[in-house]
Amino acid sequence: MGKYKIAVLPGDGIGPDVTEQAVKVIHTLAEKYNHEFEMLEGVIGGCAIDKHGDPLPTQTVDLCKSCDSVLLGAVGGPKWDNLPGDKRPEAGLLGIRSKLGLYANLRPAIIYSALKDASPLKSEIIEDGIDIMVVRELTGGMYFGERGRVQTENMGEAAFDTEKYSVLEVERIVRLAFETASKRGKKLMSVDKANVLESSRLWREIVIQISKDYPEIELSHMYVDNAAMQLVRDPKQFDVIVTTNIFGDILSDEASMITGSIGMLPSASLGDGTFGLYEPIHGSAPDIAGQNKANPIATILSVAMMMRYSFGLTKEAEEIENAVVNVLEQGYRTGDIASSGTKVIGTCEMGNLIQSEIMDKKHRNI
Ligand code: NAD
Repeated sequence: MGKYKIAVLPGDGIGPDVTEQAVKVIHTLAEKYNHEFEMLEGVIGGCAIDKHGDPLPTQTVDLCKSCDSVLLGAVGGPKWDNLPGDKRPEAGLLGIRSKLGLYANLRPAIIYSALKDASPLKSEIIEDGIDIMVVRELTGGMYFGERGRVQTENMGEAAFDTEKYSVLEVERIVRLAFETASKRGKKLMSVDKANVLESSRLWREIVIQISKDYPEIELSHMYVDNAAMQLVRDPKQFDVIVTTNIFGDILSDEASMITGSIGMLPSASLGDGTFGLYEPIHGSAPDIAGQNKANPIATILSVAMMMRYSFGLTKEAEEIENAVVNVLEQGYRTGDIASSGTKVIGTCEMGNLIQSEIMDKKHRNI
């Protein structure tokens, strides 16, 4: 039996809809495995602006810091779209990641055999399913480097952004990626642009250096342009991909797209130690908020990642993942992943079914 404290930040739009289902699943695990999960709710994003005039109030940061991990729904919506950049809901999201020192973003892209038809790729390419983990550096590189505007002599105004990585920044993300690979298929692909960029040459040197501590991991390197092509040509060749902030931003979205279902994909943001922030990759989907239409699986699978990466509860993580697969294989779908011959159900019913699978009380609660 373990005792864990979780900050729950439902956010805006469908955030509360999907978080409610994930919280139900956490209660189910507590009951089945005799764990104590204390859940404390806080505000972030638009609802925090409405309540405190700030997308990331100090109380929320303090709450997260007092917990072992954070579960987040989604933020944003048309109501707050016209606010200045640093006052918008999304500023709360960037703020919480940096305030909690979360420098690694883990984004799995999985194609479940029951959902193969949702992928835009040809069936022969994804025949045996796909299971890729993109590990993206989250707090360095071009998104945080020096930027500005200058006047040039002959070409008028110019703008620049700087890609800068320190040895320590690269070391910590690369180590985390090797550790991640050692818990999966033991293959790591480092993606860079070392044929052109000096920052990539340093990146590659460090990857090679650190690989000596992980002789059991098969390491390869790939230029980012090739990686973008290979992801759609032959995604099965990838297990774990590690890359910089900007390359990871683009490649993780591409990897998500090949699964074809935004409502299915979880993510984890990690730093040193076991603390982590877990959230679905989708946004607040204001078009379906509060209508019992949102797919809660991405958020429920984010709980599985929390169990595995923050609490070391591998069995509980697998229990959630298996429950999701079983419910899909029984033909149940929320509207976003429905196809002919499947049974369309709502957010709440999907949560109930996954709960019941975990408790082995099949279909009792639908
Ligand atoms: P979105 O992900 O919210 O929605 C895109 C489309 O996917 C919509 O049609 C939506 O209905 C559908 N969708 C998304 N999640 C779904 C789910 N779980 N189940 C069923 N359908 C789902 O992206 P968007 O429309 O570009 O953005 C809407 C708002 O969300 C904006 O305010 C944006 O800034 C914000 N946003 C927040 C995050 C975040 O909190 N991490 C991420 C992206 C966008």
